[in-house]
Amino acid sequence: MMRKILVAGNWKMHGSKTMVRTLLEGLLAGSSADGKADLAVFPSFPYLSLAESILSGSHITWGGQTLNPNAQGAHTGETSGGMLVDMGCRYVLVGHSERRSIYAESDEDVALRFKAALDAGLEPVLCVGETLEEREQDQTESVVARQLDAVINAVGIDIFSRAIIAYEPVWAIGTGLTATPQQAQSVHAFIRDKISALNVIIADQLRILYGGSVKGSNAAELFAQSDIDGGLVGGASLTVEDFLAIYGAVA
Ligand code: PEP
Repeated sequence: MMRKILVAGNWKMHGSKTMVRTLLEGLLAGSSADGKADLAVFPSFPYLSLAESILSGSHITWGGQTLNPNAQGAHTGETSGGMLVDMGCRYVLVGHSERRSIYAESDEDVALRFKAALDAGLEPVLCVGETLEEREQDQTESVVARQLDAVINAVGIDIFSRAIIAYEPVWAIGTGLTATPQQAQSVHAFIRDKISALNVIIADQLRILYGGSVKGSNAAELFAQSDIDGGLVGGASLTVEDFLAIYGAVA
């Protein structure tokens, strides 16, 4: 099974209209529909409309950074999956470590959001990963398994045909530290094996992205690993040059 590499930029709470326009126009000019990788961006909610107007009909897709588990209602400040679909989103991030740690989203909350995303017709990008302390205590696999199980138990495995997983070791996010290609590959293989034990076909098709200080200088080696199907990129997705260096590293 050939899984096409996906390079996705998580812009977090960064940007302005000018910055979003500059980034998107630069990405459109420097990438192509028949390129070796798919390209996606995750702007903040206020810029989704701008992203839709610039990217509609192009090869670049976009998504939201989170969603509320409810479809609608009295949830001031929140955004539903249906609203993201209305903004042309294809994807939504679910369970990013910053949501888990700063906004106290539990495994169960993440599972509810994952389900809400699927119900709305979005492709959730489920983020999982261990902290430094957990890695040092040799708990990487048990933490990732627990985070995955919470979602699999809630929605079943078959629906993962419409999902993406991002392995993001918390200690590598925004720190400049990157998992070595071997460390990352080992966890990616663990994730694929775990899914494979439940459904071989879905495991084979599933894109598993690596996230954690991906840069132009380390992307090629990471993406060359057999179970790494692209990257979820934070800091280096905020300039056209750095983001396209990662896109261009896809062999
Ligand atoms: C992220 O937040 O998903 C991420 C991987 O950030 P960075 O690339 O900056 O480590």
